Amino acid sequence: MSYPLETDWAPALADATRHFINLLQIDTTNPPGNERLAAQYIANVLAQHDIESVILESAPRRANLITRLKGDGSLPPILLMGHLDVVMAEPDKWSHPPFSGHKDEEGVIFGRGATDMKQTVTAALATLLLIKQNFHDRGQLPKRDVIFLALADEETGGAYGARWMAENHADIFADAEFALNEGGGIAAEINGVRYMTIQAGEKGTSRFWLRARGTPGHGSVPMPNAGIVRLAGAVQCLGSTWLPVHMTATTRRFLEVLSNTQKGESALFFRQLLHSEDPGAVMDTATLDPTMQRNLNAILRNTAMPTILRSGGQLNVIPDVAEAGIDGRLLPGQSRDDFEREIRAALGPDSADLEIEWATAQPAIALEAELEGPLLDVIREVMAERAPGTHLLPNLVTGGTDAKAIAPLGVKVFGFSPHPADDLHIFERAHAHDERLHEQSFHYCVRTTYEIVEKVITRDA
Ligand SMILES: [Zn+2]
Repeated sequence: MSYPLETDWAPALADATRHFINLLQIDTTNPPGNERLAAQYIANVLAQHDIESVILESAPRRANLITRLKGDGSLPPILLMGHLDVVMAEPDKWSHPPFSGHKDEEGVIFGRGATDMKQTVTAALATLLLIKQNFHDRGQLPKRDVIFLALADEETGGAYGARWMAENHADIFADAEFALNEGGGIAAEINGVRYMTIQAGEKGTSRFWLRARGTPGHGSVPMPNAGIVRLAGAVQCLGSTWLPVHMTATTRRFLEVLSNTQKGESALFFRQLLHSEDPGAVMDTATLDPTMQRNLNAILRNTAMPTILRSGGQLNVIPDVAEAGIDGRLLPGQSRDDFEREIRAALGPDSADLEIEWATAQPAIALEAELEGPLLDVIREVMAERAPGTHLLPNLVTGGTDAKAIAPLGVKVFGFSPHPADDLHIFERAHAHDERLHEQSFHYCVRTTYEIVEKVITRDA
């Protein structure tokens, strides 16, 4: 048999679109999640194609679905992973109800989860059905098993989804060599040059409370060293000071791609940043678009952003304690001790007595996968064909995904759910009002995902 196999795409894409819309119509707002109905829908579709799946509930109605299409065992499996839950939506702010799956006359499909990430889950489902049809139903086995994991609870941290699966059922999927997850495959344009992100790493989290204490007193007699005043100074400082730069492997690759593909001053800037002894100074003097500046700083440094303030209760009483919640994010390779040292240095000796209380016993670790191997080779090849002139841009994601639970099991997780190079606002639409995806973008996601998986499971390592 020769590859690629001929797939009759028209009916496959029509079916996939139907499944996508049906999944968008199932309300999996998390909290509470209620992923059971969505998992059951997928199980039914799989069953109609003679594919068995298992639904594992971490709590009532919190459902995780897993299935595996067998290969010949000559190479380790590939895992397709995604989450079924979505964030909340305010229906009155939407042009079409958030759980309508409405397709307008231009072919735009509306629904919470349209870009995060029911499109990717449906593309994985469609891929599974096509592999079954193109291989197993023709008496052929691919070289790798294909495992599909549709998870609960990504949006609130995965305690009922990825983390629960990793703690309780790792044996049924952790033999995978690598995984395709959300987080990349998103088009970007910088100075007219097109890029497609591939997520190879994620920052970790180490959130904390910063607390200043003092003596309580009457508000009519000011106290310049009151806790509330000193905390305000510390918050001002943390919110406006960049911590030191640490160049990670992923960010180095990111800057290399930009150095080699940008033109003129922009190329020069990325080259300087990459090769400077003092990249922090290069950032400080750069004249960048503000969004670019923020994003670049966030991937170059540990960050500590104040997000909560708490103190006082009465207008005429100086409170004895004031505290700020700080969203701390760690780069790969950085420990909590490193982080605390940087925070203390930024705050200076005057704030040395401020307490730091970590919000969790352990930090959520940062991840970084090597940008090498058969899956990466195939992604490069397929994208050269499907998005010519577009450069793959390895990126470190500043937030977190289910990869945090799965990668420590030894599975190399890459965020790559491919969307067309000219669909530039996929990421901005996630979690926003009117979350939506054009049918053509969805079809592209399905076809490209299938092509990548088909190539990976048919070729020798
Ligand atoms: Zn997501």
